[in-house]
Amino acid sequence: MADSGTPGWDTDPIVARTPRRPSLSGVRTADVCVVGLGASGLSAMAEVLRRGLSVIGLDAGRIAAGAAGRNGGFLLAGPAPGVQRAAESWGVAAAMELYRDTVNELDWLAQTLGPDIVRRAGSLRLAGLPGDPRSEFEAADRLREIADCQEQLSFLTGHGIRAEWYSGTLGEGLFLPDDGAMNPARRALSQAGRLGDAGARCALFEHSAARSISAGSVKTTAGEVRCGLVVVAVDGGLDVLLPELAGRVRTARLQMLATEPLPDLAKLPCPVYGRWGYDYAQQDPAGRLFLGGGRDIDVEAEWTTDSQPTEVVQAYLDGLVLRFAGNPVPVSHRWAASVGYTEDGRALVTSARDGVVACGGYNGTGNLVGPVAARAAVTLGLDGTPPPACFAS
Ligand SMILES: Cc1cc2nc3c(=O)[nH]c(=O)nc-3n(C[C@H](O)[C@H](O)[C@H](O)COP(=O)(O)OP(=O)(O)OC[C@H]3O[C@@H](n4cnc5c(N)ncnc54)[C@H](O)[C@@H]3O)c2cc1C
Repeated sequence: MADSGTPGWDTDPIVARTPRRPSLSGVRTADVCVVGLGASGLSAMAEVLRRGLSVIGLDAGRIAAGAAGRNGGFLLAGPAPGVQRAAESWGVAAAMELYRDTVNELDWLAQTLGPDIVRRAGSLRLAGLPGDPRSEFEAADRLREIADCQEQLSFLTGHGIRAEWYSGTLGEGLFLPDDGAMNPARRALSQAGRLGDAGARCALFEHSAARSISAGSVKTTAGEVRCGLVVVAVDGGLDVLLPELAGRVRTARLQMLATEPLPDLAKLPCPVYGRWGYDYAQQDPAGRLFLGGGRDIDVEAEWTTDSQPTEVVQAYLDGLVLRFAGNPVPVSHRWAASVGYTEDGRALVTSARDGVVACGGYNGTGNLVGPVAARAAVTLGLDGTPPPACFAS
């Protein structure tokens, strides 16, 4: 019987054994208060510390309680819509700038956290799903996607981005050698651990939900942070926490599962996403599949702030396990989390209210874009410098 609600990543012994942080009580002061301790909020905290300032971080749950600790673990360089689609809609310069920034972020992560956490195996964008098409519709859709992959390949190589055509046991598509994969919960906990080095200038509090956010003050049930700037780094649910952003960012649920180890330890050579990026899977070194997708299966129901897995989407994911593994494999964990979507695929980096900047809306691909956006939010809040054109302000 699968564990419903708990991310499969949490079985990692380091994730399971990491000591928890206290919750906030009483009044504390800092130059900056960061609300939300996913990878984005933790990166915002690191940026504040790099500037020699003090920072307090708050999370409603534990560190990386949201999507940052519950996602597919893909480290894909570039914007969520894909760099060539983003170039068409935001302009080549903006799309390429975000591409470069996310590659730098990935290089930094790989160097800093090491190969136990970041596996630089590349990624595979498959046209369709592994194996032969199962219907005429699927066959025709696959041909359209092969054509799209070819177009993407020529855009990428034409702009100096490494990419190769893939034709192999899984099907056909594009191999992007610069990408990577990770256990996202371990990544966030490791980033949080590194902040501890800053001692008195830095404090993190778990189970301390911000109940009111205003210029100079963030209040929780039992405490308050008084500060010069508030940075809200929350992807899913940003439109609820800061209702003035509703209409610019909208919360959706994404779902995943994890399986028991596959008998074939090397079934997937690298993280693989297929069917126009809707479905994805990576295999960890122990052989387990971490698989998600089906965002388009029950579209309207997934526009929700609820983060419990549903029968409809999980049944679809069960079918995907068969496609990716080739055989039935027992499922050990099923879970979901919230993310934010924007109209044109650009993440938000914006002044939400007096003394409060916010970032979020990563359109389902925030592992690298989130930290880049979070640093831009700190720069906006502390220096008044508007974010680059790859973000919506
Ligand atoms: C199933 C799934 C699969 C995904 N797969 C990928 C992938 O493979 N690659 C990729 O790049 N992206 C992926 N994403 C998207 C990615 O996970 C997110 O864009 C990214 O993790 C967002 O991180 P964040 O730190 O910005 O925000 P979040 O992870 O949303 O973190 C926000 C934090 O804020 C806290 N919080 C909320 N409200 C409050 C409050 N009132 N007070 C204090 N704290 C609060 C939450 O507890 C949470 O810890 C996926 C998302 C999901 C759900």
